[in-house]
Amino acid sequence: AAKASGKASWARFEPRMHSEVVNHARLGSELHNAIIRHELELAYQPVFDLVTGLMAGAEALVRWRHPVRGLVSPADFIPVAERSGLIVPLGSWVLREACEQLAKWHAEYGAAAIRSINVNVAARQLRESGFVDEVAAVLSDTGLIPANLVLEVTESSVLDGRQVRDTLQALHELGVRLALDDFGTGQSSLSLLRAFPVDVLKLDKSFVDGICDGEDRGRLAVAAAVAQLAEYLDLYAVAEGIETAAQAERLREMGYRLGQGYFMAKPLPPAEMAELMIRTVLPVTAA
Ligand code: C2E
Ligand code: MG
Ligand code: MG
Ligand code: MG
Repeated sequence: AAKASGKASWARFEPRMHSEVVNHARLGSELHNAIIRHELELAYQPVFDLVTGLMAGAEALVRWRHPVRGLVSPADFIPVAERSGLIVPLGSWVLREACEQLAKWHAEYGAAAIRSINVNVAARQLRESGFVDEVAAVLSDTGLIPANLVLEVTESSVLDGRQVRDTLQALHELGVRLALDDFGTGQSSLSLLRAFPVDVLKLDKSFVDGICDGEDRGRLAVAAAVAQLAEYLDLYAVAEGIETAAQAERLREMGYRLGQGYFMAKPLPPAEMAELMIRTVLPVTAA
């Protein structure tokens, strides 16, 4: 009887599974063309210094302008790209485009430009044996130095095994900084922070959402603990997904020097980003 009902539930489940597979396959093949047809764009979300209010950097976030579907969210196509392996060429495009854009800003605005750019990197990219060479080549082609680049990786991709660990170590030795994205949501183990050359902790938005909610002591506790941890380990702490002045203020009090969120700025097209940048970056003055 158990077997029969198992079968029956499969029979009911199958059509939905099938259509999902077909959808993803279609999205996957369209995504393949998207790279060739130049349908991908980058938006830039500024990171602000919560103490001075000045812009401290920015994160590059990929956008897909689909000819029929319109703007497709990365939350919808990044997982598809990861499963199909398309994330590797897509990620290569993002890395090069973001570095080229930063180099242009440096050339155009000099000290009024942000110094560094954050680029998201998927586990699959880190597993490619040529990834470190690729990063080095992009930096040299664009004339950037390793300190101009911050790579954002998730805890789960860091835990992917020996090869990924060696890659992260090599990137660190090159001088590229590493940020742990969505920090607090993964299989966090504090020993991870000692075993890997991490420079930045990005507190996940889900904790920021809870900090001003008097009922939610749990998320507040995580947010506060991550700030403390960063201070003790001499890492930068960045809070992401800040939507209100109250959250920004509370995070600043907790010790977050840096923050990112709609309250300060949404991800912006390059021209709007540049406009905001030249008004809010503190020019580096000669000592
Ligand atoms: P993420 O790297 O954690 O990026 C932060 C996400 O939070 C972005 O969503 C950003 O627009 C959103 N966000 C920032 N501030 C706020 C806020 O105040 N409120 C709300 N509601 N959202 C906020 P986005 O651009 O949709 O990207 C989603 C995720 O897709 C990213 O999360 C990242 O995991 C992935 N992704 C985006 N671009 C790339 C890429 O080039 N490569 C890879 N591998 N993944 C990417
Ligand atoms: Mg990120
Ligand atoms: Mg994040
Ligand atoms: Mg996230």
